[in-house]
Amino acid sequence: VDRQQEFVLRTLEERDIRFVRLWFTDVLGTLKSVSVAPAELESAFEEGIGFDGSAIEGFARVVESDMVAMPDPTTFQVFPFEGGVSGESARMFCDILLPDGSPSWADPRHVLRRALSKAAEKGFTYYTHPEIEFYLLEDGAPDGSVPIPVDTGGYFEHTTHAVARDFRRQAVLALERIGISVEFSHHEVAPGQQEIDLRYADALNTADNIMTFRHVVKEVALSTGVQATFMPKPFTDQPGSGMHTHLSLFEGERNAFHDGGDPMKLSKVARAFIAGLLVHAREYTAVTNQWVNSFKRLFPQALPNRVTESPAYVCWGHLNRSALVRVPAYGKPNSARVEVRSPDSATNPYLAFAVMLGAGLKGIEEGYELPPGAEDDVWSLTSAERRAMGYEPLPENLAEAIDVMAGSELVAEVLGEHVFDFFLRNKRSEWEQYRREVTPYERQHYLSL
Ligand code: GLN
Ligand code: MG
Ligand code: MG
Ligand code: MG
Repeated sequence: VDRQQEFVLRTLEERDIRFVRLWFTDVLGTLKSVSVAPAELESAFEEGIGFDGSAIEGFARVVESDMVAMPDPTTFQVFPFEGGVSGESARMFCDILLPDGSPSWADPRHVLRRALSKAAEKGFTYYTHPEIEFYLLEDGAPDGSVPIPVDTGGYFEHTTHAVARDFRRQAVLALERIGISVEFSHHEVAPGQQEIDLRYADALNTADNIMTFRHVVKEVALSTGVQATFMPKPFTDQPGSGMHTHLSLFEGERNAFHDGGDPMKLSKVARAFIAGLLVHAREYTAVTNQWVNSFKRLFPQALPNRVTESPAYVCWGHLNRSALVRVPAYGKPNSARVEVRSPDSATNPYLAFAVMLGAGLKGIEEGYELPPGAEDDVWSLTSAERRAMGYEPLPENLAEAIDVMAGSELVAEVLGEHVFDFFLRNKRSEWEQYRREVTPYERQHYLSL
């Protein structure tokens, strides 16, 4: 038993915690949980907990279905706010192993770990900072009818919307109590829409934190009698919910994206990284935007009194919110970073962080040239103007995104063959299911023909 494991066992005993949840994430980004009694934990640390991998989306075929969840004691966290028998519960994230003890290629955490070790070989650590948007709804409308947002608030609004304000305060307190630091939280542009931004941390921690975040936010919402949704685009006439992600590479204590001598304070490494993000953007979009619905967000729309502010064209810009990759205003050297604006709030964060890192590292390895930044609002250019400037459109729908991804050596390499194949198969069948669906739009427009 190592020191971390010992700490976990001692804490459980001292605080009389009766439930330990072991968490992991399937390929589509759904959180899975198995509870163990504290008495079982010592052996779980040694041998893991066996489970049927074929029952988990994307993990295994029936004939090779035995898998092992191995708790990672560095992720141990007491959940003080969950009422259980003794009032407290705890959770740990798990790594997924095969019965012979080798890591499973189906485990998104392993996919990210592998990408991180590739960065480490080059001397880099990879930090991420997500801005997570979501809607608070009166109720869930499981029948597909249009849900009702909890308020009529707008961007940064404070005074009149008690539900959202109380919700945010409670959610932020709950997150802080379990060690997830929140940097900002505010009402977003649309009625009922909220944003909570997590402090930057190494990518594996951040991905774990996002999984925890989604769970906590949903729980807090339920306890205040409302529902939280991370659906990328719940409303036709309102902006979608993005998960803009700020990325940076460090070499030891030094931010490798910073160069004080450059007019934009961007290092060569940063420029090549951004170039990689752009060159491969169309290939990894199926991962950062994995649902049929994701593409209704990645669509430039001038709504009645606002624009949707989600990217649709492959370009970068300084401060430019219409670009796919934005370089935020210069701050302290160590806060140099790039913001990728395409990921949405329903992405699998492990896989999304892995493919963005893979694309950026590829840019560094191959010494990709960064094209000039976009100065204009690229949404308002004509498509001929955009073509002339070389701004390619992101895939327009899931079918196109899958096709582009299927031809990507880079994405295959980063995800590994198992996840790559499963993902493409799963997403193709999602598209087929959607494609046959006759929608209210069609009846409205064609019934009278
Ligand atoms: N909701 C927008 C998106 O989908 C972002 C709005 C903003 O944060 N400026 O990306
Ligand atoms: Mg923001
Ligand atoms: Mg926002
Ligand atoms: Mg942002």
